[in-house]
Amino acid sequence: MGQLIGYECPNCNYEFDKFDGYGFVSVLETYHCSRCMELVDVLVGIRGKKFTEEMALEHNKRYPLEKENFFKCPNCRVKKTLSPWNLQTKPCPKCQTKMNQNGKIGNWD
Ligand SMILES: [Zn+2]
Ligand SMILES: [Zn+2]
Repeated sequence: MGQLIGYECPNCNYEFDKFDGYGFVSVLETYHCSRCMELVDVLVGIRGKKFTEEMALEHNKRYPLEKENFFKCPNCRVKKTLSPWNLQTKPCPKCQTKMNQNGKIGNWD
């Protein structure tokens, strides 16, 4: 089961629900999309298994009907605009201020 943690920027009030870890179906990680200027939860694996890029290609080849957008921004569907969100500095994608947890917490699967 994965975990949901809500974050909020103290400067511009940007909010983001970070889905993290291993769900029953999807494995998600947080990335920053420089095109959308948003934080996004990106699919990096399936059924509890984190994929490499080769595994993702292989999966989509083998299961064309459940083709997934691995390692792509869920908004603009572009891959090369993504960079991992810095978990040390937790920068707001709008103003670069360090984001804080807003107390929202939960589980997802
Ligand atoms: Zn901000
Ligand atoms: Zn995007």
